Amino acid sequence: MTATDRDFATYELFIGGDWTAPQDARTSERSSPADGRPVGRYARAGAAEVERAVAAARHAFDDSGWPDAPARDRARILRRTAELLEQRADQIGRRITLELGKPIRLARTEVLLTAEVFEYYAALALDQRGEVVSRHTSRALGLVLHEPVGVVAMITPWNFPLLLLSWKVAPAIAAGCTMVAKPASLTPGPALELARVLSEAGLPDGVYNVLTGSGGEVGTALAEHPGVDKVAFTGSTEVGQQVMVAAAKTVKKVTLELGGKSPNIVFADADLKQAARNAYWGIFLNSGQACQAGSRLLVQREVHDDFLGALAELNAPSLVGDPLADQTMIGPLVDEGQLRTVMDYIEQGSQQGARLLYGGGRVERDGLAAGFFVEPTVFDGVTNAMTIGREEIFGPVLSVMTFEDPAQAVQIANDSMYGLAAAVWTRDLDLALQTARSIRAGTVWVNAYHDAGLPFVMPMGGYKASGIGRELGREGLQEYLETKSVHVRLGRR
Ligand code: NAP
Repeated sequence: MTATDRDFATYELFIGGDWTAPQDARTSERSSPADGRPVGRYARAGAAEVERAVAAARHAFDDSGWPDAPARDRARILRRTAELLEQRADQIGRRITLELGKPIRLARTEVLLTAEVFEYYAALALDQRGEVVSRHTSRALGLVLHEPVGVVAMITPWNFPLLLLSWKVAPAIAAGCTMVAKPASLTPGPALELARVLSEAGLPDGVYNVLTGSGGEVGTALAEHPGVDKVAFTGSTEVGQQVMVAAAKTVKKVTLELGGKSPNIVFADADLKQAARNAYWGIFLNSGQACQAGSRLLVQREVHDDFLGALAELNAPSLVGDPLADQTMIGPLVDEGQLRTVMDYIEQGSQQGARLLYGGGRVERDGLAAGFFVEPTVFDGVTNAMTIGREEIFGPVLSVMTFEDPAQAVQIANDSMYGLAAAVWTRDLDLALQTARSIRAGTVWVNAYHDAGLPFVMPMGGYKASGIGRELGREGLQEYLETKSVHVRLGRR
């Protein structure tokens, strides 16, 4: 099932509905993180292409009538996009696997989940309302109207290269915005495949444009560009800060979905087996490269040993393997830089006194030595004072901490610069809800991790350094709408 020469794909930029090369013809290549085989060549946009793409998006917004297209047309395009994505789940999923190393079954799932996002916003496109203020006085009416924000630059990371982009693209289309996407340089293919799908679904030219190229160059230029009305960014907190500064020059709207160090809290009365399974996949899904990863596991002291026993039982070496193989659940890290970062954190964990329970090394058996595979790694005895308890690792490293009572659990959980997600495991409803309310994070799961069965209707985003604004749900659509107040005087005065 390894990659073949036929998997190599060449992509140009997508601007104004056309595939086009940059004026200086620069390209970059990507190799598979699983085995080093080249998997794609991509155009590298520069300043000239930023101008062209913003002009195309501006024209589509200002002159084409798209923002005022009937809601039914926007909904139909979104629905058709969902259908096409479902039909192409194998092909686009394979592209995700080749570029990112995400196991193929999870990559296909990413495409199917993306289809659900488009389906969800198709429904919302048909049900957008404003407000009427009619009871303040009989001599005036207030109309609160919502209108599309305009041209949106979308800068996205590599870890869920299609899904996270769809959280921006689908509501932006529902709202009537136009956009320029700048996907991560390590995984540009899915954003370009989406361009094909959206065109086939009937999206007018210029509404969705894609620039591949370096974040420092293209991302910064988009964030600074006066023709861009909003930047929707997902990525690291550090780069998010830079984007916010760049966007400040033209007072653009920004939404930032940033990093996390999310606590997963297990109380003594929890269903330990279920909690262990979710704690395992809460961190090791996507090799720990998930913004909401449950990277701090807080376990109540009296069940500490039993719980870690249940967690260890889940750890099978066969879970890690060739991401193109159907049975593989854990693939490689995205690149050598990420591998070095993660191995460095593992070393710091041991040096700072955390106890390595298992993992901690590279996986090099069965021909995996050419890839960036790291064993699922669990450290016990971690505190928030240690680097591995505090910093986002973005790799398969779990930091286990112990607490005595609910107050201490909340104190440890909230002692972080981040506030993206958290989970609480208990059979005591009161304890669950009290803890959920006390945690300073944008998402809290109760007796679930990553997915309680409500994936896209619930808003998601960060408290503190984890971000600004919300994606998904109705709130996620609102981020692509401006609010206009129309004050109407009634009668003569
Ligand atoms: P990243 O390094 O911050 O990059 C994210 C995007 O920003 C990429 O497209 C990147 O382009 C671009 N970029 C880099 N420098 C830029 C600059 N100066 N101005 C504008 N854009 C720039 O993040 P990553 O390594 O791809 O992703 C991992 C991070 O994303 C983690 O911190 C994770 O927690 C976070 N994340 C958050 C969420 C969420 O919803 N909260 C979801 C997923 C990931 P290049 O690829 O060309 O450098």
